Amino acid sequence: MAKSVIAIIGRPNVGKSTLFNRIAGKRMAIVEDIPGVTRDRNYAHISYFGKEFTLVDTGGLEPETSDLILTQMRGQAKIAIEEADIIIFLMDGKEGSTSSDVDIIEMLRKVKKPVYYVLNKIDNKKIEDNVADFYKFGIDKFYPISAEHGRCVDELLDDICLSLPSALPEENAAEYPKIAVVGKPNAGKSTLINRLLGKDRLVTSPIPGTTRDSIDTIVTYYQKEYLFIDTAGIRKKAKVLKGIESYSVVRSLRSIERCDIAIVLVDAVEGLTDQDLKIIRYIEEAEKGCIIAINKWDIVEKDHNTMEQYTKNIKTIHRHLDHLPLLFLSALTGTRVQKVYAEIDRIMEEYQRHITTGELNRFIGSLADHLPVATYRGKPLKLYYATQAGVRPPEFVMFVNHPEAMSTNVVRFLENNIREKWGFIGVPIRIVVRKRLSSR
Ligand code: GDP
Ligand code: GDP
Repeated sequence: MAKSVIAIIGRPNVGKSTLFNRIAGKRMAIVEDIPGVTRDRNYAHISYFGKEFTLVDTGGLEPETSDLILTQMRGQAKIAIEEADIIIFLMDGKEGSTSSDVDIIEMLRKVKKPVYYVLNKIDNKKIEDNVADFYKFGIDKFYPISAEHGRCVDELLDDICLSLPSALPEENAAEYPKIAVVGKPNAGKSTLINRLLGKDRLVTSPIPGTTRDSIDTIVTYYQKEYLFIDTAGIRKKAKVLKGIESYSVVRSLRSIERCDIAIVLVDAVEGLTDQDLKIIRYIEEAEKGCIIAINKWDIVEKDHNTMEQYTKNIKTIHRHLDHLPLLFLSALTGTRVQKVYAEIDRIMEEYQRHITTGELNRFIGSLADHLPVATYRGKPLKLYYATQAGVRPPEFVMFVNHPEAMSTNVVRFLENNIREKWGFIGVPIRIVVRKRLSSR
């Protein structure tokens, strides 16, 4: 199910990231501690009283320069207005309104989607008097909150959740894989899309995506159909400020929510950036398949083992990416671009793969003596049996004596071993733990 995207916008220092962390802190749908990834987040899946959404802190996506703040804010607001479903416009309630706030309010007035005007740093009742100053803008409702102390944040969330649909229209259970192409501006996404939808390919007319103004394309390649998400959006060049990355990020998040497999396009010369790593983490949390495609391979100086060296570098530094396939290609010249289709087929197979309970338990049994030490109240963890409960993504249920003893260490150990044995290349694995009193 595609989730709504909620963007927090506002001047630097009004408390965007504090609010983001306050909301995400307790309510993150999945909290994972992946080593090698910086801890600061800009986006998170949030689950709040049965409603799910994606929260984006646009502040974390700002370029680092401190001048041009107003222009940046305008750009940022434009992006959010275009791409998000709901906007939280955060202001500093303690400081009072500033001219740039007024500017953004004017822009937001014309917007047809829900906008929440939020005044932060209202740490106590006394400061709340400041709020009066803001009512001169003719806005119906302001939310005075304190992101730092959590004051009235739940009230804001409750109201936001009321405007969230409980379920966006389900994508039709498609027979074809749905592919999102994501990556930084200039990585070559539009060039790649043009290649993949090449002239000689049968393109079954563009179809409207479920999200507003996104146009998907179905392609037939060797008698199989593939759906590429938001091809129009990828081709459309960012009209907003150059250098602002939030454009592609917010758009990417939406596409990832809808896809089966995300292709993360990386500029070979630039290498894997923090932004790419964050996107990859998001893909994993959304439990989608993932391919890392190293583009512009034509301009990399190479000898016979450059590819291996490049792969080794990435996988040594980022060990958690070990199970993701790397493709080296050139969208410009077309070299190895068609391999993308084979890789998609392979991942779809892995995504839907089912290991029989017998086979799984023989394997789990063989691991019993090698489990990392784990105890609960002095009692050692015992792994009784396991079964694969689902596919897309593959879900393994582990029955143990003390679920509390299943540390991240043990889960990672199991995941690594399952991957070593069966591969599951490019797909996330879900491990669920259940309590059993004894082995059967
Ligand atoms: P951003 O640049 O908009 O992301 O702002 P930050 O979240 O980094 O916050 C900027 C500063 O405001 C930090 O020093 C925060 O501690 C402070 N701050 C954030 N929320 C509150 C609040 O509710 N009350 C007060 N008094 N300070 C806050
Ligand atoms: P997007 O912003 O991710 O959609 O990137 P574009 O597809 O617009 O490509 C950005 C620039 O990189 C353009 O000038 C492309 O011609 C160039 N480019 C894209 N793919 C390749 C490639 O494989 N090799 C080289 N040398 N240039 C490429």
